[in-house]
Amino acid sequence: MPEMGERDHPEIREAVRRLCERFPGSYWRELDRQRAYPTEFVRALTEAGWLAALIPEDYGGAGLGLSAACAILEEIHAAGCNAAACHAQMYTMGTLLRHGSAAQKRRWLPEIAAGRIRLQAFGVSEPTSGTDTTALRTTARRTARGWVVHGQKIWTSRAEHSDLLLLLARTTPREAVQKRTEGLSVFLVDLREARGRGLEIRPIRTMMNHATTELFMDGLELPEDALVGEEGKGFRYILSGMNAERILIAAECLGDGRWFLDKAVAYAKERIVFGRPIGQNQGIQFPLARAYAQLRAAALVVREAARLFEAGQDPGPEANMAKLLAADASWAAAEACLQTHGGFGFAEEYDVERKWREARLYQVAPISTNLILAYLGEHVLGLPRSY
Ligand SMILES: Cc1cc2nc3c(=O)[nH]c(=O)nc-3n(C[C@H](O)[C@H](O)[C@H](O)COP(=O)(O)OP(=O)(O)OC[C@H]3O[C@@H](n4cnc5c(N)ncnc54)[C@H](O)[C@@H]3O)c2cc1C
Repeated sequence: MPEMGERDHPEIREAVRRLCERFPGSYWRELDRQRAYPTEFVRALTEAGWLAALIPEDYGGAGLGLSAACAILEEIHAAGCNAAACHAQMYTMGTLLRHGSAAQKRRWLPEIAAGRIRLQAFGVSEPTSGTDTTALRTTARRTARGWVVHGQKIWTSRAEHSDLLLLLARTTPREAVQKRTEGLSVFLVDLREARGRGLEIRPIRTMMNHATTELFMDGLELPEDALVGEEGKGFRYILSGMNAERILIAAECLGDGRWFLDKAVAYAKERIVFGRPIGQNQGIQFPLARAYAQLRAAALVVREAARLFEAGQDPGPEANMAKLLAADASWAAAEACLQTHGGFGFAEEYDVERKWREARLYQVAPISTNLILAYLGEHVLGLPRSY
């Protein structure tokens, strides 16, 4: 495997690699065919404690920093596995940890850390608002007993495989607030109670195996203590978790890139055409070399973003650049890998086409490339807001 500068957290990386050996390409291929959830893989990660990496020790977690979580996710992807089935817990949990009440944290975090409860679903996106989050239409209205929710979410991944959902809803109408970012609130929804009682979950079949869904909420009742933090401050809470999310996803992209390069380099050395290995041709070699250089550069920014995050900063520019550069680098590696494999790149048994489909997502989600560029243009370069 080409060296990618992944020297931090060597014991964690080694342990994750060993766990992933139990889940080879054949495992993921079969799930992909059936669009089935990797239950055994998620169970193994949970039992090994990796999904509780960021939960403080006081609540039964490992109390590790973001760079350790990055190492876990990067290695999962470098091994050809896919953490998209379970990565959300690592960043959604942060909202509860930072903004939840003492009672909420005591009630949920030890259960999540022990793997008895899953907090894997995150309901922000809606069909009509798209990237324009503050235009979302889901409402939560106060009642004598708590809250009642009406609205619709889309792309709520893993909702069928999660016990809890972190939901963003409008609690004050947009016309009644001074700034559009105000009046939104975050709720912790117990899906086990909500489903069939005002909440309907419908799976969406996508080009890769992602367990994503649509949520329909019609009179969904939530208890008073479902509210996380203060009413009306939800957008800020969600934003504060997004930098962690971007850095963690960027680490997954690095892992994907390593997997693609590893696979492509091995194939380019062994495939003989015109009496010589195809890797001897610059047309094959150079795209791989370029993708490698892109990955190395992206890795530096990802590690810098994680370092700043661990130092207590909220590194918006670095988190966004990490996501942008790592997603671009992994996509360059994906393209080069598929091209290197020629026709075999399209055959399921090589796993390249599956990983290629999976890697494409990160140009769009959790934030699209354009919106990252718009962020950098406005907030870093000081250019006029473009939207
Ligand atoms: C498989 C999958 C899983 C997902 N999981 C979740 C999840 O668990 N929870 C959740 O809340 N969301 C989830 N999402 C949603 C994801 O975050 C959004 O799809 C993403 O943020 C883009 O929003 P959109 O699809 O509404 O695109 P739109 O906002 O409709 O944008 C469409 C295109 O237009 C571009 N665009 C829009 N506005 C501008 C502008 N001002 N300037 C330049 N370009 C612009 C965008 O970059 C994009 O390319 C998931 C999405 C997918 C596909």
